Amino acid sequence: MENSALTRSASLIDHLVQLSGLRKRDDLLSGITRALLETIAAEKVEIFGLVHDENRQFWLPLTQALPGTKVRFVTDPMRGDPEMLAPLDSDPNRHQCQQRMEVIETSPTASQTGFVARFPMTVAEGATLWGVAEITSTHALTEADRKDANRLLTMYGNILDMLDYSERDALTGLWNRKPFDDLFYKTLKPTEAVEAEKLPDGVDHRSATTPSNFWLAMVDIDHFKVVNDTYGHLIGDEVLILVARLLKSSFRAYDRVYRFGGEEFLVVLRSADHDAAVAAVERFRTNMAAYEFPQAGRITASLGVTEIMAGDTPAAACERADQAVYYAKHHGRNQVCSEADLVRRGLLKVDLKVGDIELF
Ligand code: GH3
Ligand code: MG
Ligand code: MG
Repeated sequence: MENSALTRSASLIDHLVQLSGLRKRDDLLSGITRALLETIAAEKVEIFGLVHDENRQFWLPLTQALPGTKVRFVTDPMRGDPEMLAPLDSDPNRHQCQQRMEVIETSPTASQTGFVARFPMTVAEGATLWGVAEITSTHALTEADRKDANRLLTMYGNILDMLDYSERDALTGLWNRKPFDDLFYKTLKPTEAVEAEKLPDGVDHRSATTPSNFWLAMVDIDHFKVVNDTYGHLIGDEVLILVARLLKSSFRAYDRVYRFGGEEFLVVLRSADHDAAVAAVERFRTNMAAYEFPQAGRITASLGVTEIMAGDTPAAACERADQAVYYAKHHGRNQVCSEADLVRRGLLKVDLKVGDIELF
């Protein structure tokens, strides 16, 4: 091997070793962005995630790296403006990369300087595409460039698979308790500016976005025990998978859906005000009530909604949402109850715990 080839291999191994030591998704994302830039000696690397919003798909710009600068996080996945996202087919080449799950390369044109190669970014051992890495360079990629980029992206996908294994519910594929707690403590601190968040390894601050309110919805399936008792546990499991799917399709790109086990789900949703949050949750309730489950037919859910407040803990917010669910269960089921509404109407005792402080 020539010296330059040896140096290149050593640098690739360095990047692979570095990536393999990262456990936080943000660190991994900036790590892979920089690794691609340096390995290919590219002019620019950008990573776009794929998000959905009620059955439409959009590109979410995640990171951007330029030579000699730090990796920049372009959008905070929880706080971006859904109206600003580009639809899936807005970029034909990236769209093609997503559809075919293969590398799509283009040469410079009047409107595009540089050679651009789009690499599919996958998880589940290459089965599911979640994003695209776009590499812009002054040269057409060589076979070695392509191989190295694929090696880095495969390693990155493997690490994401490992993270998913510990952060997702095995039955439904939804997030589990750990990322829920992480989100609460890291992202949802409404009092602290997100821009203040400084990531390790010198990554740039996130772009400032308008502040927004977050709401927690708790979903509890009605009479689920009857479904199990009547149709068996396997059909019960199928219902849970389908409810998870309904939840994901009913809420928006920036909302997050969780299952900690059992027949209860949580949704962290962003909404400017109380009524809009309740309306979004109500939309899911009607979708579910109208859904014909393959064996079990119609199944409903009771839901509780509460605002996530400054200084909230996951346990305190869940407790408030649970109180609203409890009320819904005892007043006919198949309905959405707002904890704030119940308190205002004197139907729920005010015993709100926010962090360690008890409010009266
Ligand atoms: P309610 O309307 O009051 O919520 O009644 P329910 O029957 O839904 O509530 P209950 O808490 O009495 O029963 C929940 C059932 O959910 C009992 C349990 O066996 C079932 N369950 C929990 N986790 C799973 C699971 O992973 N798979 C299946 N098939 N069933 C589950
Ligand atoms: Mg329950
Ligand atoms: Mg239930």
